Amino acid sequence: MKVGIMGGTFDPIHNGHLVTAEAVRDTLNLDEVLFIPSARPPHKQDREIISSEHRLAMTVLATCFHPKFRVSTIEILRSGPSYAVDTIDTLKRQYKSGTEFYFILGADAALELSTWHNAQELIEKCYFIAATREGTDIDIRTIEADFGKSAKGHILRVETPKIEISSTDIRKKIKCGRSIRYLVPDTVEAYIRKERLYNDNNDD
Ligand code: ATP
Ligand code: MG
Repeated sequence: MKVGIMGGTFDPIHNGHLVTAEAVRDTLNLDEVLFIPSARPPHKQDREIISSEHRLAMTVLATCFHPKFRVSTIEILRSGPSYAVDTIDTLKRQYKSGTEFYFILGADAALELSTWHNAQELIEKCYFIAATREGTDIDIRTIEADFGKSAKGHILRVETPKIEISSTDIRKKIKCGRSIRYLVPDTVEAYIRKERLYNDNNDD
């Protein structure tokens, strides 16, 4: 069994996440992709993140129609900071032995891999997929060079369509009253409107 992992703040989840996950799933023939909203991301303590409940709800709404997309609450329910290495250990206990895990990362996240908590241990336990557009200047060997021999072959590159959407941009657009149609699934937009998320007068 091959399981993709798409981790993120998902504040909010958008079509860039979905298109990337689907392209990697299709290319590597993954049996499922697990979307894991993070709790308190160690990298993102500089700004307010909306509640885990809202981020989880939007992640479910965005993925529920895909038979091979699933959502996991393991990071949201865990107390303390969310580290990928703890997540992998938990997943390895939950899935049959021999299951291979493929951590899907955008190019920006792939370049920061060596700064992750216990990165060396983590990279030996799973595969990393750097999702990059064809012709993008990202050298897998340079990322791998930060790690020991045991990491060799554990970082793979998969070409995915370049989708210029970020959660930051979506939050800004909502604040300014601009359209986010087709940037997020309709279900997610409806939820954002209903709960009045990302407005200046209501940040949570
Ligand atoms: P923010 O703007 O708040 O940082 P984001 O859009 O980057 O949000 P995250 O939740 O930080 O979304 O990203 C989770 C993962 O999805 C990361 O691995 C990131 O590289 C990847 N990702 C985000 N946006 C895209 C995109 N448009 N195309 C491909 N991968 C993406
Ligand atoms: Mg980001």
